Amino acid sequence: MDVRALYELQKVDTAIEQTKVALEKLPERTHHAQALADLAHVRSTRDNLRREQSTMEAELASIETKSAEIDTHRAKLERQMKTIIAPREAEALQHEMQTLAAARNELDDRGLLLLESSASADEELRQLVDTERRAIEVESTTKHAQEVAVAFKNEEMAALQARRDEVVAPITAHDIATYDRLRASYKGIAVAIIQHGVCGGCHMDISVSELDAMKRLPADQVAECPNCNRLLVR
Ligand SMILES: [Zn+2]
Repeated sequence: MDVRALYELQKVDTAIEQTKVALEKLPERTHHAQALADLAHVRSTRDNLRREQSTMEAELASIETKSAEIDTHRAKLERQMKTIIAPREAEALQHEMQTLAAARNELDDRGLLLLESSASADEELRQLVDTERRAIEVESTTKHAQEVAVAFKNEEMAALQARRDEVVAPITAHDIATYDRLRASYKGIAVAIIQHGVCGGCHMDISVSELDAMKRLPADQVAECPNCNRLLVR
């Protein structure tokens, strides 16, 4: 078994895994998602405001109609007033006219309030046009940045795949099968190196006597970590 070749393969495969994770977790992706959410928020605020405005416009139109009806009614009562002689009738008429005047005032007050709200909604909508324009720009910029970052990572990935093809070519099918089996069992790391007496796979100390035993293994026999069973590069 050519454990050094397998270790080279291990390094490439680890780099491929890291690139995959980096591709998924690109900050540019988060930025673009945030920009999309901001744009959606601006648009829903604008739509709500427009709905509120059309409700206000409908109410204003109904106030105008009611006011006109009251005015017509009052004019009619005023004409009647001029022809009435009996004081009790005049009093009743007066009372009716006062009621109408109060209703008319109430409508006027409500109308003014609605006009003020409508004007401030207009102003808010004008500002939202700017906000939306900026949000569209940010969405487009972040989208482009994301595409560039993805393309860059994809190039890295293609280079790693090409390197993997090179590295894997001379390795026997039997060794690859062992490597694949170990990777599946040991969180993607089948082959590790020993650094300062520590296994690069499980990061546990390997005792001096264990290291010594490994050194004395025949050249064609592969050393395994006594803690994690991964293949070790001697
Ligand atoms: Zn180990």
